[in-house]
Amino acid sequence: MFDKKSILSKIPSVDELLKYKEMDELMTICPRNVVVQVIRDCLADYRNMIFSSEPGDMEGQIINIEEILRRISVMVNKKLSYSMRRVINATGVVIHTNLGRSPLSDEVRKHLQDTAFGYSYLEMDMEKGIRGSRYEHVEGILKELTKAESAMVVNNNAAAVMLTLSTLAKDKEVVVSRGQLIEIGGSFRIPDVMRASGAKLIEVGTTNKTHLKDYEDAINEETGALMKVHTSNYKILGFTKEVLSEELVSLAKVKNIPVIEDIGSGVFIDLSKYGIPYEPTVQSAIVSGMDVVTFSGDKMLGGPQAGIIVGKKKFIDRMRKNPLTRAFRIDKLNLSALEGTLKLYLDEEKAISAIPVVNMLTMDISKLEKKAEDLYEKMLKINNLPCKMRIEDEFSETGGGAMPLHKLPTKVITIDCDKISANELNKRLRDYDIPIVTRTVKDKVLMDLRTIMEKDYSIIADAVKAALL
Ligand SMILES: *Cc1c(COP(=O)(O)O)cnc(C)c1O
Repeated sequence: MFDKKSILSKIPSVDELLKYKEMDELMTICPRNVVVQVIRDCLADYRNMIFSSEPGDMEGQIINIEEILRRISVMVNKKLSYSMRRVINATGVVIHTNLGRSPLSDEVRKHLQDTAFGYSYLEMDMEKGIRGSRYEHVEGILKELTKAESAMVVNNNAAAVMLTLSTLAKDKEVVVSRGQLIEIGGSFRIPDVMRASGAKLIEVGTTNKTHLKDYEDAINEETGALMKVHTSNYKILGFTKEVLSEELVSLAKVKNIPVIEDIGSGVFIDLSKYGIPYEPTVQSAIVSGMDVVTFSGDKMLGGPQAGIIVGKKKFIDRMRKNPLTRAFRIDKLNLSALEGTLKLYLDEEKAISAIPVVNMLTMDISKLEKKAEDLYEKMLKINNLPCKMRIEDEFSETGGGAMPLHKLPTKVITIDCDKISANELNKRLRDYDIPIVTRTVKDKVLMDLRTIMEKDYSIIADAVKAALL
């Protein structure tokens, strides 16, 4: 007979388990108190499992010491391993928010290493030896790259938008076109950010059409700013009208109110030369006369998470004094990585070759084809691969909410197995020591060469081998 009481009585005690040599071995890699806690947690799991099981399932619940020891070992190892681990992005989504958006440039590594693992001149005026400002490290180069009068940086673009609104339009009205009230994944919605900043949203126009007169009619003595938001993650097609930045700027000038633009992805290089649709650059927003322009550091710019604010000095000086600036402060690791990334933009060719996101977005099809052949070659070395493997044409995506309609022609390697489903193969690849994240199309596993780095070919070949043989 299997009754709960007799099974429960067979669960070993913590002290009994501690006598096994397997536990001594665990204690060589993990402190004793942690091992003991894991043993307690594991035994509690067993008790709960037995309590909640139906009489019919009891047979499966016979206590097996080997099984308990194995489970404890797995739990201890899990506790010791990192949760945030490096993965190989084979999805072809370049700015993959769930995979950390922009991988940093190798060129940034040394600067980051130098500044992050010791002390740095983070907030010290090097000439005078007195306290300085962390923002100065990137202000000069941002001014140079964008031709703006002034610049500063915060934690991310959401914070940049919030700080801008709070500084220029707290308790005032901000006029925005209804067609630009966007939501970005991860609960960033323009109306919500606006409310949180203390500004009052005034929507004008309709979803598909907004005219200059709509803005004009909405302006009154309560108006704090006009705002333009780049609809980076969707497009309204067909019968549409958006007011040009230049027109908005002229109107704002006449009415003597500031005009701000959230351009989302921070693009410095006109990528249309590389066959990519034109995305408004930061420089073009400044040239159009925008007073304040905000954008992300880790989207198309290809740097670390940061929110960059460029524009007129009188407005940015006011932002520096806003208490939110302290709350939204960029940390030194990000600042260092941002400076390193921005420096690469001084030379456009260098930026294209050295900044991974920019390099991947502009990668031409012959390079992708060569990459596919090289990886294919490596995988062919796996003997008796029980699957069909091919190089095929497909499309990659920019991701990060940028250029939603533009598909980038690419080369992929597809793996088609009879023995296991594509979902199962995907899962096994994700479970590999260095997880490989792939895509599934028509029950084939698909690896896009655009986001795969050359240094990872061997790892991918090993992972596929381990998953299939
Ligand atoms: C992505 C995006 C944001 C949010 O930027 P984060 O850097 O992720 O905070 C804000 N506005 C627009 C238009 C965006 O595309």
